[in-house]
Amino acid sequence: MAYVFPRPAQYYGKVVKKEYLNNKTIKLDIVSEKPEKFFFFPGQFINLKVNQFIYRPYSIASYIDRLPIISIILTVAHEGLGSNYVKSLNIGDPVSFIGPSGRFVLPDELYKYLLFLVTGTGLAPILPMLQQLTELKTNSEIELYVGFRNEDDIFEESFLKSCESKLKNFKYHICISQPSQKWAGFQGRITDFYKIIDIENTQCFICGNPEMVTEVIERLKLMGINKTRIFHEKFVLFGK
Ligand SMILES: Cc1cc2nc3c(=O)[nH]c(=O)nc-3n(C[C@H](O)[C@H](O)[C@H](O)COP(=O)(O)OP(=O)(O)OC[C@H]3O[C@@H](n4cnc5c(N)ncnc54)[C@H](O)[C@@H]3O)c2cc1C
Repeated sequence: MAYVFPRPAQYYGKVVKKEYLNNKTIKLDIVSEKPEKFFFFPGQFINLKVNQFIYRPYSIASYIDRLPIISIILTVAHEGLGSNYVKSLNIGDPVSFIGPSGRFVLPDELYKYLLFLVTGTGLAPILPMLQQLTELKTNSEIELYVGFRNEDDIFEESFLKSCESKLKNFKYHICISQPSQKWAGFQGRITDFYKIIDIENTQCFICGNPEMVTEVIERLKLMGINKTRIFHEKFVLFGK
C-alpha cells in the first residue's frame, strides 16, 4: 500500500465518550463533524486545541473502522494545559483539532519480524497498527514490549489479549519497572528484555518517552539494524 498522506486541516467535533482507563489515563472519543470527512493512517496523530491559541499532539488510538469517531489516550497525572483541558471535558462538549499529522506508520513492505517497543501511552498509536496488521493478514512474527511504571498503569490489556487470538504470530509482554510484590511478570525496563532473533529481517517500531526512544535507537543501530528499518515517534513533552 502506498501512502498518500491527507493534508492536515482544522476539524470540529464533539466529545462522545470519556473514560478513565486507570487513575492517570483518559481515553477520549471524539466525533469529527466538520468540515469534511476526516481520514488518517494508523500511527498518525492529531493536534488537539486546548485553549484559544495552544494545541497539544496526541496519537490516534482507534482504527479507521470507527471513523468519524477517533480516540486518543493520554496521561493526565501532571498539571498541564492539555491534561487539565481533557479532564474538564464532558460528553457533548465541542472540540477542535488539526490533523492528521506524522509519518509513524507501518511501511509498505513488512519484514519477517516486527518488534514494537513502547512505554506508557506510547501504546496508543500501536493499537490501530495492530488492527491494520490483523486486516493485512500478515505472516510477520510480531512481538510487542510495553513498559509501565507499575501495574496500576496498565491499560488496554484486554485489547492486546484479543489481538493474540486474532493476529497470528503476535505476542505481547508487559514490563513493570517498579512493580508491587505480587507482580509475577517481567520486572524492569523494556530495554532489559527484548531480543532480536534475525537482525537482517527485523523492523522496529518505538514509541513513547523520548529518552527511551533515543536510547533504543542507538542500541539498535549498534546491533546492526539499518536505520531504514527503525520507525519511531517521540512523545516530546511540551510546556517546559
Ligand atoms: C507526536 C506526538 C504524539 C503524542 N501522543 C501522545 C499520546 O497519544 N498520549 C499522551 O499521553 N501523550 C502524547 N504525547 C505527549 C504529549 O503531547 C505531551 O506530554 C504534552 O506535553 C502534554 O501536554 P500538557 O499540556 O498536558 O502538559 P504541558 O503543559 O505540556 O506540561 C506541563 C508540565 O507537565 C509535564 N508533562 C507533560 N506531559 C507529561 C507526561 N506525559 N508525563 C509527565 N509529565 C508531563 C511537562 O514536562 C511540564 O512540566 C505526544 C507527543 C507527540 C510529540
